[in-house]
Amino acid sequence: MSTQTELLLIYTGGTIGMVEDAETGALHPIDFSQLEKEIPELKKFDCNITVKSLIKPIDSSNMNIVVWQELLEILESNYDSFDGFVIMHGSDTMAYTASAISFLLENVNKPIIFTGSQLPIGKIRTDGKENLITSIEIAAAKENGKPIVPEVALYFEYSLYRANRTTKVSAENFEAFQSPNYPLLAEAGVHIKYNRFAIRKWENKKLIARKSIIDHVASIKIFPGLRRDVFLAIANLPNLQGLILETFGSGNVPSDTWFSEEITRLNERGIFVLNITQCTTGSVIQNKYETGVHLERAGVISGKDMTFEAAITKLMYLLSCEELTDADKRSYLDKNIRGEIS
Ligand code: ASP
Repeated sequence: MSTQTELLLIYTGGTIGMVEDAETGALHPIDFSQLEKEIPELKKFDCNITVKSLIKPIDSSNMNIVVWQELLEILESNYDSFDGFVIMHGSDTMAYTASAISFLLENVNKPIIFTGSQLPIGKIRTDGKENLITSIEIAAAKENGKPIVPEVALYFEYSLYRANRTTKVSAENFEAFQSPNYPLLAEAGVHIKYNRFAIRKWENKKLIARKSIIDHVASIKIFPGLRRDVFLAIANLPNLQGLILETFGSGNVPSDTWFSEEITRLNERGIFVLNITQCTTGSVIQNKYETGVHLERAGVISGKDMTFEAAITKLMYLLSCEELTDADKRSYLDKNIRGEIS
């Protein structure tokens, strides 16, 4: 049996996989069977790299649950044959997909590293090569026969983040992502410095992939002057099962009576209402101010310090867990299940 580390590289689309046509300058996707031609450095790795691509690679703005299902299928069917995975993904929705996969794949104990780039891999100043090469190194890294990063993570511009803690913060800078409420898992300089205290511990468990995803979720971003009829246009959706309120500061909303009435009505309909702060850092603490206390009373669940990306994908995941009772789903929503809450 080969002792060589086996890695699977999955291309989903996005800028990272583009090259410029020498004559026209137009961007087109790399022929991934020829990846080593574009990145000769790949030959130098002491591991076998297999490359797969989605049937139809996409700009990540077109990401949806059907593509997540395809990705889950690839990961599940190849999980036992590989030591680690690198997923090349457009940066625009990478934090959503990375968060979604962290929930929809249960019991992950191998590195699944998402990466992308701001400039195509075929451009001279690309950030894609470094991002890809270091992601591969991280996905292959082992200690005492065990992976150093046995979890879903995102690598971008010298930083490795926990997937479900990330958010895209810049459309311009190479440093495009942040993990506002959780430390880096690793920093790449001359050496890759792993922050072991922040990385999940390896556990011997069997992978489960949740491929039937419920997406009857919505969000309402609160702003001064939000009208009741605007709120109701979303809250009254007949199939709605989960709603995120993007609130002010530590989880506050206007104290108008209509607001409490509508929230109580949502709760009576059995819709999970999750409170996420619009602030980048810090946490929802619903009983801090009177403007948050009435949410708690009306049955709103605190999303604590979850990112929006983690909250919406966790909601989809828990709604998809048919074996759980509503009380279980409600209690998991405000508890840490994959390192998404501090
Ligand atoms: N629009 C592209 C995408 O998300 C941008 C990128 O790859 O960075 O697919």
